Amino acid sequence: SDSHFPVPISPSQFDYTLHYPQLFQSSDQSDGSKKIEFADIGCGFGGLLISLSTLFPNTLMIGMELRDKVTEYVKERILALRTSNPGQYNNVSVVRTNSMKYIPNYFEKGQLTKMFFLFPDPHFKEKNHRRRVISPHLLDEYAYVLRGGGIIYTITDVEELGVWMNSCLENHPLFEALSEDELEADPVVKLLNTATEEGQKVARNDGQTFRAIYRRIAFESNG
Ligand code: SAM
Repeated sequence: SDSHFPVPISPSQFDYTLHYPQLFQSSDQSDGSKKIEFADIGCGFGGLLISLSTLFPNTLMIGMELRDKVTEYVKERILALRTSNPGQYNNVSVVRTNSMKYIPNYFEKGQLTKMFFLFPDPHFKEKNHRRRVISPHLLDEYAYVLRGGGIIYTITDVEELGVWMNSCLENHPLFEALSEDELEADPVVKLLNTATEEGQKVARNDGQTFRAIYRRIAFESNG
């Protein structure tokens, strides 16, 4: 459980040299110029991150995953890709953590430009809705770590959860839906159904999917 993995006490304590060793030597770290911008929450086996890594080679990204063995698998997968493709996949990493508790330990205010919640666990029962990774309370945290103009991507094959995630986002004062044109123009949207292991499973079974993709509203004070 939670007590078995280390958590940085603040974002500045997060060890970039450990996660992105080709890009950070210990002396570089202190200037803090380059920070993680994409977070894949509940990344599972990491398929989305692997696709994003080459699509956005100059962006640092991280997967957050609760299951220890799955996290280890993603670590190995990234190391193997780095070895077989020199110079690539250096911008992607994974951390074992409980994203529902520790997001503010990893990211500063306005740090992230994209957050992903792909095929999260549905937690059907009403009394378990508070365990859902999208909720009014957690959206406050996500709004805090997202930069103005940053985008939150959600998708599920569970209609009830899709309706829930959409209504949480729709009703939150700091998020606005992307227009159809914006969705069409965003190359990342196309990956949501195809890049992750869960998405591929749903596609194989011809399952329906439900997306909710929203922008963090920018205010002058949010930069
Ligand atoms: N996003 C991946 C995909 O589309 O293939 C995985 C989807 S899987 C159904 C949900 C994942 O979220 C699981 O790997 C689970 O361990 C992870 N998860 C659940 N609760 C979590 C939490 N609080 N923090 C981090 N990961 C969590």
